[in-house]
Amino acid sequence: MINDRRVVPEFYSPIYRMAVAQFEQAAERLHLDPNVRKRLISPKRALLVSVPVAMDDGRVEVFQGYRVHHDCTLGPSKGGVRYHPDVTLGEVSALAMWMTWKCALVGLPFGGAKGGVSCDPGAFSRKELQRLTRRYTSEILTMIGPDIDIPAPDIGTNEQVMAWMMDTYSQHKGYSVPGIVTGKPLSIGGSMGRSAATGQGLVYILAEALKQKNKSFSGMEVVVQGFGNVGSNAAEILYKEGCKIVGVSDAFSGLYNPKGILIPDLIQHVKKGKVVSGFPDAEKITNEELLVLKCDVLVPAAISGQITEKNAKNIKASIILEGANGPTTPEADLILKDRGIWVIPDILANAGGVTVSYFEWVQGMQNFFWKEKEVMEKLKDVMTAAFASVLETSIKENVDLRTAALMRGIKRIADAYLARGLFP
Ligand code: NAD
Repeated sequence: MINDRRVVPEFYSPIYRMAVAQFEQAAERLHLDPNVRKRLISPKRALLVSVPVAMDDGRVEVFQGYRVHHDCTLGPSKGGVRYHPDVTLGEVSALAMWMTWKCALVGLPFGGAKGGVSCDPGAFSRKELQRLTRRYTSEILTMIGPDIDIPAPDIGTNEQVMAWMMDTYSQHKGYSVPGIVTGKPLSIGGSMGRSAATGQGLVYILAEALKQKNKSFSGMEVVVQGFGNVGSNAAEILYKEGCKIVGVSDAFSGLYNPKGILIPDLIQHVKKGKVVSGFPDAEKITNEELLVLKCDVLVPAAISGQITEKNAKNIKASIILEGANGPTTPEADLILKDRGIWVIPDILANAGGVTVSYFEWVQGMQNFFWKEKEVMEKLKDVMTAAFASVLETSIKENVDLRTAALMRGIKRIADAYLARGLFP
């Protein structure tokens, strides 16, 4: 249960309560030092900024922006920037907390951060998007830096947004600072393999999970919610591995074809029209219908809070592979566990993105760039080892995979807190 008195009211939101509920459950199992527990329940620091933007029609609109550092005990903090109308301080804080556990779980020398602007990026012109990004970057300048906090793409942002952030930061410094962001274009120091890294990481993790069940990719029926960076890359790689992608969706609608959707064609369709709707050879369905389709693997790769106590009892997949952050509520987790459905948690499943972001940061700091094959081999090693460690903890402690993953991540941070002591 969440001890509400310990959570600072400013961070209250349904998603923050969810992150804290998960943390408390794992902390309980770890018998976590109560002083460390108190320190980890709230972010280390949070910044709220107004982002005024000159719109193309001459009006000035003011948007609310955020950057939150949950923890930076192991190194600089790391986390995406989200542009979405529902972005709030509570949401960004929950996402920052999950980044802390994720980086610790996969052994990266980073803490957790997240940022965002409450806005609808789809409604902006390219010029408006650029002005918003540059002003937001200027406003959070004191919070970011290659040794302080390194942003990356998330919902509604992409490598172009990262390029503008990098340029804005570099203009303020007077020289180029590629290490300020990850997920940037190759032409300015991005890493080979970064754009597909989260999707590829999901596939490496699924391969390990299937081995445990004596199954292979061939003929496996998969449903993917969200067809952005994570969802489309995961769908494409799984399609090439021999899976049958029977359902996909975006924010507007879903597609269903029991014989399998031609993912390379759908990617071309979305490149032209931006949405999955209108793709031939598939039936139009809603996102609610998509989540309960008959399939072997369900990959939620859109937003949080999609699998809840309302639909968990109707889910037909035997594995849920969390591409999104926080797609499953704690109440749904209990129902899925009772039903014997394996939930491979976000902080493990989607850690491929931050892992290749770490590789990009290392390459940038050293000005020494790796081939794609090398990046992918290193990514596979990290993901495979993380899966094995989480499975081992889950068996040893008799807990589900989410609790096991959180226990490993939180333990690493707690050990570092205890070793470093409390200042002053
Ligand atoms: P994106 O903006 O590229 O794509 C998001 C997709 O989700 C789009 O297709 C959008 O239409 C769809 N979507 C939005 N709201 C929806 C809704 N209500 N129902 C169904 N679909 C909806 O974002 P992304 O980078 O692919 O991120 C997706 C998720 O993965 C997020 O939860 C993000 O935090 C997480 N994630 C991303 C990365 C990364 O490297 N980009 C890494 C780890 C985790």
